[in-house]
Amino acid sequence: MSKVRHVLGISGGKDSAALAIYMKTKYPSLDIEFYSCDTGKELDETYQLIKNLEVYLGIKIEMLQAAQNSSEDPFDHFLKMYGGYLPSSNSRWCTKKLKLDPFEKYVGTDLVISYVGIRGDEEREGYISTKKNIQSIFPFRKNIWSEDVIAKMLSNQNFDRLQSIANNIDFGRYQDKASQIISKKLDTSFTQNQKLNLLLDTDVKAFNHLVFKFLKTTEYPLANEESFALLNNEDVLIRDDIFRILEESGVGVPAYYKKIDFDINGKKGQYSRSRSGCFFCFFQQKIEWIWLYEQHPDLYKKAMEYEKDGYTWGQHESLEELIQPKRMAAIKEEYVKRMEKKSQNKSSYLVDILSDAEGEGCAACFI
Ligand code: SF4
Repeated sequence: MSKVRHVLGISGGKDSAALAIYMKTKYPSLDIEFYSCDTGKELDETYQLIKNLEVYLGIKIEMLQAAQNSSEDPFDHFLKMYGGYLPSSNSRWCTKKLKLDPFEKYVGTDLVISYVGIRGDEEREGYISTKKNIQSIFPFRKNIWSEDVIAKMLSNQNFDRLQSIANNIDFGRYQDKASQIISKKLDTSFTQNQKLNLLLDTDVKAFNHLVFKFLKTTEYPLANEESFALLNNEDVLIRDDIFRILEESGVGVPAYYKKIDFDINGKKGQYSRSRSGCFFCFFQQKIEWIWLYEQHPDLYKKAMEYEKDGYTWGQHESLEELIQPKRMAAIKEEYVKRMEKKSQNKSSYLVDILSDAEGEGCAACFI
């Protein structure tokens, strides 16, 4: 059997940091390699988080950099290659060049299990790579398997194969129920997701063993492992758990999440940054740009310097326009209103309120 590497990417965000702590603590015998893709443009708080993790876990986090032979930071190197064309949500060359390509180079053709910190309370699927030698696992979710694995296993094409494997899996008191679910083919009134959720609701451990046995009949990396430590894992971790893990370990929540008070025309508000990634990331909200301007004016100035030849970070206004006093006040006021409305509804976490679009962006940058 070929050797399988186990890797975990640290994006600089809270979820991947918590995942590193969780995996190292819960599965100390798994030989996990930790890495981070450095764009050269992360916030100092991100580099600090990486150092804290190295100290706490007693590990070395491999810093992967694109364009290693360049005299410039990876981002600046590629920006020049793209003729100053700033990346945007519609043209995200930065994620590919600075995160995915270095990761795929690091992995090469080795068989790899990649652990990804998508939480149990998130809907998004963590796209990392479509390469066949890389298999993603999501330890924080009830369904730890990636979408492609589930689609293959539950497809009607593999119906007979799955049924014969399932006959040798112990679903305990749910044996009959599990057989009934497995023996029902997918059609327009019975979707893959319904089948998946019904099976997960029987017995998660048995379901994981079913998937593992099925994978043995495929070319997925896990087919090369005798066993897999996470098969008996029933944990589902949500946002509260992430903050708890980071705080209890002493690693701490990345400092940019810290709420900072501001006043605007007699009203009080709080802002912070909701995600890791480059300080100029185009995914940030207007209020986060203002946070950058007021909390890291040097970085805001640097972000402004990138805006030239008609290229801007935002679609409709430049960073210079965004910090005009009237415009800043309007953004803050609108944001305070939105916060008040949202805090009446559900979460008390500022990060929740800030990151309406947490699922946006890239798993490589923001987990
Ligand atoms: S953090 Fe934003 S700007 Fe940086 S690589 Fe990721 S998507 Fe691009």
